Amino acid sequence: MDTMYDVLIIGSGLGGLECGTILSKHGYNVCVLEKNSKLGGTLQGFNSHGCRFGTGMHYIGSLDKGQVIDKTFRYLGIRDQLNMKRMDPFGFDVFHIAGKEYACPMGMEAFKEQLYSYFPKENEAISKYVLEMKQATDEVDLYNLRPINSSISGNNKSLSKGVFGLLDELTPNRELQNVLGAHNFAYAGQKEKTPFYTHALIQKHFIDSAWKFVDGSEQLTNLLAGKIREAGGTIINKEKVTGFMHEEGKLTGVKTANGHAFRAKHFIANIHPALAVQMLDESLLRPSYRNRVARLENTISAFSLHLTLKENTFKYRNNNYHYYKHPDVWYTSYYSEKAWPEFFYLFVPATSGQDKYARCLSIHTYMKFDEVAQWKDLPLRHRGADYEAWKTAKAEKLLQLVTEQFPELKGNVTGMNVSTPLTFRDYIGTPNGGIYGTLKDFHQPMASYVGPKTRIPNLFFTGQNLNLHGALGVSMSSLLTCGELIGLNHLIEQINEA
Ligand SMILES: Cc1cc2nc3c(=O)[nH]c(=O)nc-3n(C[C@H](O)[C@H](O)[C@H](O)COP(=O)(O)OP(=O)(O)OC[C@H]3O[C@@H](n4cnc5c(N)ncnc54)[C@H](O)[C@@H]3O)c2cc1C
Repeated sequence: MDTMYDVLIIGSGLGGLECGTILSKHGYNVCVLEKNSKLGGTLQGFNSHGCRFGTGMHYIGSLDKGQVIDKTFRYLGIRDQLNMKRMDPFGFDVFHIAGKEYACPMGMEAFKEQLYSYFPKENEAISKYVLEMKQATDEVDLYNLRPINSSISGNNKSLSKGVFGLLDELTPNRELQNVLGAHNFAYAGQKEKTPFYTHALIQKHFIDSAWKFVDGSEQLTNLLAGKIREAGGTIINKEKVTGFMHEEGKLTGVKTANGHAFRAKHFIANIHPALAVQMLDESLLRPSYRNRVARLENTISAFSLHLTLKENTFKYRNNNYHYYKHPDVWYTSYYSEKAWPEFFYLFVPATSGQDKYARCLSIHTYMKFDEVAQWKDLPLRHRGADYEAWKTAKAEKLLQLVTEQFPELKGNVTGMNVSTPLTFRDYIGTPNGGIYGTLKDFHQPMASYVGPKTRIPNLFFTGQNLNLHGALGVSMSSLLTCGELIGLNHLIEQINEA
C-alpha cells in the first residue's frame, strides 16, 4: 500500500474517532484501523432478542448548552445531530443503600439542598464537600477549557488525595459518606486507591447535567466516522494492528494481522498502552518506561445481563438505579466471589417513541477476571459447556437479586444476553476486560499516569487510559493528544469560539 497518511490511528473507540475528526478538520489525511467488524469500541451496540443494547457508555454528563461536553461536541460538529434525552432533573441517579433510597438531582445547588434534606445535621460537612469538589474541578484547566501551560494533567493536587479518605475526614457519618460515594460504578472506585480527582470530575460532570442516548451510543460512532470520511479520511474495520515498522528511532508504518502494511507520518494508539508497547521494538523505548506501562494496573471487569421483557410490564425509568446490599458503596474493596453479587447498576435504554414502558434493560455488576481465567485461551463462542453452565448459574444469581428489588420482572423476561469479563476483553481489547482501562492510584499518581507523548517523536496515545475514562475523560484526552500536533491552546480557543 503506497498511500502515506498524515496520521494513522489504531482503534476506533471514542478517542480514536474524536482525534480523527479533530485532525481531519485541521487538514490531516487520517486513516483509522479497527480490529473489530464494528467501529466504536465501548460505543458499540448489539441486537439480542428484539432489543438493541449498548456495551458501555450509557449516560453522559455536561451536555447542557455551554457545558464542557456540549462545547466539545459542538466543535466536532456533531452536537445538533445527536439524539439525546435529558434525564430526570430531580433524580437522574437513584441510590439504594442497604434498604434506603436517595435521589441525586441535577445542578450543584439542587444537589446540596437535597443532601441537606437527607442529612439536616450535616450542613457543614455537605458544604465543605461541595467546596472541595469545586476546588478540585476548578484546578483542571482542560476541564474548564482554559488555556494551559503543560499537557501533564498529572500534577493536579486532587490526584494525590484519596476520595475515601477525604470523605472520611469530612464527616464520621457513614451514611452520608456512602451517599457522597454512591456514583462509584461510574468510575469503579476503590477505597484504597481512587483519587479524589477521578471522583470529583465524574461526579460533577454528571450533576451539571445527565443525558441518555436515544437509540444507542453508536450514533456517536456514526457521526464521528461520517466526519472523518467527509473530510476524505479512511476507516478500515477488521484490520488488527500487530506491529510497528521503524527507522532511526521513528515509526514509519504498521503491519496488520491480514498481512497489510500502512505508512504514515504520525501514529496515535487508541488502544491500551500496554498492548501498544508490546508491539514496539525494544530499542525504541527505555526499559523503565516499558516495564511501568506493562505493569499498569487495570480497573475491575464486569458481568452484565441484557434483558428483553414482555410488553407493558416494566415502567420506563428516566434514571439509573444503583443497588448496594450493604451500607458500604465501595464494593470493589470488599468484593468476594462467594457472596457475589452484592451490588448492581440498572439502566433502561431510551428508545424513540417509547417512554411509558421499557422492553429492554441492562444490568451490570463487577466481576474479577480471575473467575473466568480458566477459559481465557478458548476461542470466542467456543468456550465449552462448562463455561456456558457457569455463565447461566451466575446470570440466574444476579437476576434473582435484581428481581428481589423489581418483582415485576418475575416471569416477564423473554430473552437474556450475558457478558462476562472475557466478552469485555474480546470486544474492547482491554487486558483482563477492565471496564474503564487503567486504575489510577492516589498514592502514586504519576506511576499510574500515562501521558499522550512518548519518547518516540511520532507516536502518541489517546483514550480512557490517559488521565480519565468515560465521555468526559476520553474527550479531554483527545484534546491533549491532538494538541501535541496542532497546539493545545489553539484547539481550546477554537472550542470556546465554536
Ligand atoms: C460496562 C461499561 C459501562 C460504561 N458506562 C459509561 C457511561 O455510562 N458513561 C460514560 O461516559 N462512560 C461509560 N463507560 C466508559 C466508556 O465507555 C469508555 O471509557 C470509552 O468508551 C473508552 O473509549 P476509548 O477511546 O478509550 O476506546 P475503547 O472503547 O477502549 O476502544 C478501543 C478500540 O481499539 C480497538 N483495538 C484494540 N486493539 C486493536 C488493534 N491491535 N488494532 C486495531 N484496533 C484495536 C478495539 O477493538 C476498540 O474498538 C462504560 C464502560 C463500560 C465497559
